[in-house]
Amino acid sequence: MELDKMDENDWKYHGEGNKSLVVSHVQHSSVLRLLKYPSQDAEHSQQTTEQACRHIHSIVDFSKNVMKPLLGEAYVHSGEVVKLPLDFVRHLSLKVQQERPELRCDKVMDTFSGYALCLPNLTQLNACHFGDHRLPLCVEIKPKCGFLPFSVHISKECKRRVCRFCMHQHYKLANGKWKRQSRYCPLDLFSGNKQRMYIAVKHLLEEPQNNFKIFKGGELIFGCKDAAEQTPDMSALAQQLRPYFTHNAGLYKGHLSAKAVLNEFIQVVSSALLSSWSCSRTAEPKKAHPADARGYCEASPLHRDLLRNGNNSLSKDSVLSRILQVQMLDNLDIEGIYPLYKRVEQYLVEFPKERSRLQIDGPYNDSYLEKVKICPAEDDGSIEYAIGKVHQYRVAMTAKDCSVMITLAPCGEDQVLESTLEIQPAKPRLTYSVSILDLDPKPYDAIPYQHKLDSKIVNYYLRSTHSKQ
Ligand code: ATP
Ligand code: MG
Ligand code: MG
Repeated sequence: MELDKMDENDWKYHGEGNKSLVVSHVQHSSVLRLLKYPSQDAEHSQQTTEQACRHIHSIVDFSKNVMKPLLGEAYVHSGEVVKLPLDFVRHLSLKVQQERPELRCDKVMDTFSGYALCLPNLTQLNACHFGDHRLPLCVEIKPKCGFLPFSVHISKECKRRVCRFCMHQHYKLANGKWKRQSRYCPLDLFSGNKQRMYIAVKHLLEEPQNNFKIFKGGELIFGCKDAAEQTPDMSALAQQLRPYFTHNAGLYKGHLSAKAVLNEFIQVVSSALLSSWSCSRTAEPKKAHPADARGYCEASPLHRDLLRNGNNSLSKDSVLSRILQVQMLDNLDIEGIYPLYKRVEQYLVEFPKERSRLQIDGPYNDSYLEKVKICPAEDDGSIEYAIGKVHQYRVAMTAKDCSVMITLAPCGEDQVLESTLEIQPAKPRLTYSVSILDLDPKPYDAIPYQHKLDSKIVNYYLRSTHSKQ
């Protein structure tokens, strides 16, 4: 990429989240990720260029030095910082404005600093897709928290029975964030049980919200753009996916029925989530995480028997297992973290210079990772314990908010591939690659907000479910 010859016509709107807007190159397989600000702040308290530069570097450092070693080298692409010409950024901002969903327009793209992240476009498989005419497919899942909190600090019993995502749904619906309730439950997806995972992915398809997207050849073909949209059109989706599932079993009037196509698709997605990168070339999957360690969520629409008696196994190196292990660094829950945050705050009032030694705002380097890893198991009343737990909590928060990208590319019938790289060799021939994105550090200052939000969600859940009983 020649930074002095940037042309906005080479880039197009790709997508956005709460914190950043992403554009993709029309020819090369790369994206630019630009930061966003609340629009009311844009003119007055915009970050200085220097702050934006520091912020974007801290994102790369956190992803590369902290999240990547914890989640696994193979899954994480941290990207690199680029300084773009301001003219290019301003033109780009005008160009993408009309493509942006209304839901996201409370924030504006940073057109002041010129700093951005350049990343590989994960919706397009980097390896050539073996001369096949079919475009690569990519499934993006934002799985959210996959375990029930087990901390002794929890004050409301329901938090041990109903997962955060399911409780949060009630709150989001009441606040108009979404119009229809998602029946997806993260605990089913993370269970490692094929049946539960199947249902979890099916529920994501039925109500994707911001947890599920499908891209074809890098273009979004399925996903929710705003709260008011109608229920997703499953037969249109099956139509799009049918060319990838053309083998002979289950043919109806010459082609697979919509139901059969979606069924196969869900199975391929589940297999990719269960596959294990580092042991993909060995026959025996490593087993870990017995199901009872994480249990099940009482709000999941699945039948109790299936939840209790399902045969669960999440291979230790699978992407879901890696994410779950990092999420579980939050073992005190926000209710246990908040008093430790206050201990740190009190300490900083007395010793303000300690802020940098404790690496509260970074730098996110090896020594930060060390603090995350070596935190004492028991509270000895020390500042080291408090800060270690706070760092662990923030790392876990990032893992609760990341997305998994599964890129699937068809390979022609006559291609000879190593069979271990294929999903269901006897069935549709698809190669895949799995990555994790959106690994930004969560701000230390957000802990009091998280504490309040937690009690709002739990109290609302208790009130709304109680009044229905
Ligand atoms: P959130 O609100 O979830 O925190 P965010 O603002 O941090 O989101 P991202 O999730 O990083 O932003 O990016 C927004 C979207 O852009 C993603 O959901 C994904 O669809 C797309 N995207 C981001 N990075 C890439 C990439 N490297 N390749 C392809 N698509 C990407
Ligand atoms: Mg995101
Ligand atoms: Mg994010």
